Amino acid sequence: MSRPAPPAHCDVAVVGAGIVGLACAAVLARAGRSVVVLERREAIARETSSRNSQVIHAGLYYPPGSWKARLCARGRDLVYERCRAWRLPHRELGKLVVAVDESERAGLESLLANARAGGAPDLVLLDAAEVRALEPQLRAVAALHSPRSGIVDAHALAASYAAEAESAGASLVLHAELLGAEPSGAGLALRVRDADGGEVRLSCAAAVNAAGLAADTVARLAGVDVEARGWRIHPCKGDYFALAPGAPVALGRLVYPLPAAGGPLGVHATLDLGGRVRFGPDAEYVDAPRYDVDAAKAEAFANAAGRWLPGLRSAWLSPDMAGVRPRLAAPGEPNRDFVLEADGAWIHLVGIESPGLTAAPAIAEQVAALLRSL
Ligand SMILES: Cc1cc2nc3c(=O)[nH]c(=O)nc-3n(C[C@H](O)[C@H](O)[C@H](O)COP(=O)(O)OP(=O)(O)OC[C@H]3O[C@@H](n4cnc5c(N)ncnc54)[C@H](O)[C@@H]3O)c2cc1C
Repeated sequence: MSRPAPPAHCDVAVVGAGIVGLACAAVLARAGRSVVVLERREAIARETSSRNSQVIHAGLYYPPGSWKARLCARGRDLVYERCRAWRLPHRELGKLVVAVDESERAGLESLLANARAGGAPDLVLLDAAEVRALEPQLRAVAALHSPRSGIVDAHALAASYAAEAESAGASLVLHAELLGAEPSGAGLALRVRDADGGEVRLSCAAAVNAAGLAADTVARLAGVDVEARGWRIHPCKGDYFALAPGAPVALGRLVYPLPAAGGPLGVHATLDLGGRVRFGPDAEYVDAPRYDVDAAKAEAFANAAGRWLPGLRSAWLSPDMAGVRPRLAAPGEPNRDFVLEADGAWIHLVGIESPGLTAAPAIAEQVAALLRSL
């Protein structure tokens, strides 16, 4: 990866080197476009793409036909294919969504119906004995088993898109922050802060806004009335706690509670590729992204996960990391879909929260299709 100033001209400028911008750059460069990726940080994938559960979602939760459902289903298959082809660290270990008591059974059944309608594969409803046979420590009257859910090394996945983009000729420019954008001829003139704090210009035929938590800011720079379009990002922080090594908890797969209707997925148990268990994320709207984890939340995490993992003690939990969701839904509002929209010479990708890691390569395919129609 290089630190030169951006080239003066390209076909497509991609703003943001998270998983989505990098996947877009790989697809576009492979299709023969000259591509420049502008990233304000010192390295790729330093924001949400490196602060998440690293789950390859099968696509259980999203309204059938929504972008989230369609792009998750397609992205899941593309991510698994890529992991095999590029030998990226991953495990298709499966996931259980648990109904803790009879009051949750109907919710589990409607989740199953929704997931099947959205194209999630190989789902099975398990009874209490079948859950116990898979995960003896769980308390559940029933569970939805999704064997195609898995985990991936998100950084390795992002690095693989960066490598593919660069080997197809894309330029990846770090310490390069988009400051302004004006229409120029048939395309755009971009103002970019470079590594030395100076300002350089880049002209491009089209640009992709893949700026994650700053996608609303970049849309504003592009002249969009963000409030009128409903594109304001409401940062929603999620903290994680790690299970102490040696704590008497053994899980072989991901475990999720039944999600509250219209909200985030709820504190779940994730495993990393080393088998380490983490609990999280919770959901807390914040004024601006920040990544501290309040140790005092251990009790609340133990209570939340202790519903389905009885005996879990707060003393076994230590603050781990935090990520921030770029949510379009304000506090109290129901979940919103991803925004993928062409506007003049721009393609805007806004509100790319979960399952954005899974969906990234499918989002990239849609961006390529939108650019063909500009
Ligand atoms: C707690 C949490 C858990 C999650 N778990 C999962 C999961 O298990 N599975 C899953 O599929 N998804 C998950 N997600 C969602 C997933 O992580 C995101 O959808 C995905 O990482 C978004 O990638 P991105 O490239 O859009 O954004 P980012 O990774 O945020 O990248 C955007 C980039 O744009 C750059 N940028 C911003 N403004 C500018 C500018 N003006 N100029 C230049 N660069 C700029 C930023 O520096 C950043 O690098 C989770 C998210 C969170 C918060």
